[in-house]
Amino acid sequence: MPAIVASDLDRTLIYSAGALMLDGTDAEAPLLTVAEVYNGAPLSYLTRDAEDGLERLAERGVFVPVTTRTVAQYRRVRLPRAPHDWAVTTNGGVILHRGEPDADWTATVAARLEHACAPLAEIEALVPRPGDHPAFLRLNHAEELFVYAIIDRANLPADELSALTDACEARGWTVSLQGRKLYLVPSPLTKSAAIAEIAARTGADRVVAAGDSLLDLDLLRYADAAIRPAHGELHDAGITLPHLEVTAARGVMAGQEIVERLVAAVDAPVVAAPVAP
Ligand SMILES: [Mg+2]
Repeated sequence: MPAIVASDLDRTLIYSAGALMLDGTDAEAPLLTVAEVYNGAPLSYLTRDAEDGLERLAERGVFVPVTTRTVAQYRRVRLPRAPHDWAVTTNGGVILHRGEPDADWTATVAARLEHACAPLAEIEALVPRPGDHPAFLRLNHAEELFVYAIIDRANLPADELSALTDACEARGWTVSLQGRKLYLVPSPLTKSAAIAEIAARTGADRVVAAGDSLLDLDLLRYADAAIRPAHGELHDAGITLPHLEVTAARGVMAGQEIVERLVAAVDAPVVAAPVAP
């Protein structure tokens, strides 16, 4: 069976204008494709070369997008040859099979979470309400599985963030800060569990993965070979693993490099030697 290429989207494959990190002159900037439109305006981008690489991966039927986005947020992302046979949203809470949620997986996730961690309402109660704290601007629910706050980082002292993180971890939840979004996610709700399910159903015997944040770490650990960009939460934490490569580039050019490495990993299915960060 072919490998599964499981990749996170935001700040791994697609980038907002503020996350492009383009080095060099404007005249040398790569050609970009709009990957997401929100309220009528472009929101996320990838390079045209990255788009071509994703087209190749999709053509082979091996590419599985894996995101913490909700289903609605995921459906705004325009990638070549979508809908793919398989995709994972909601941090592993939803498996999309040919674009539609898989009911069996939804039931499995609900059963697994029921006694494994504190309920959503208990975690929500730990988060300051918008208006009560200058850092917390909005609180959103994701498929009733987890919550994420839109925050003003400048107004969130490090000790308050670590106190909230500790309180959540004590209740079996994971906290991940990505740009202006603070995610509070049940620890058993993982991208790797959903990918393991897809691998079992498709008979895939090898998983190559890419991701940039703490919420991707379980997937990178689970994979046979993995890649992360030289930016983001994992990079800032200095995360290394024996089978984890780190890109030379950062920003949207790291996204292009990740696609190139994923294509190469499928073309020549040999686990690459790890590259020191
Ligand atoms: Mg990401």
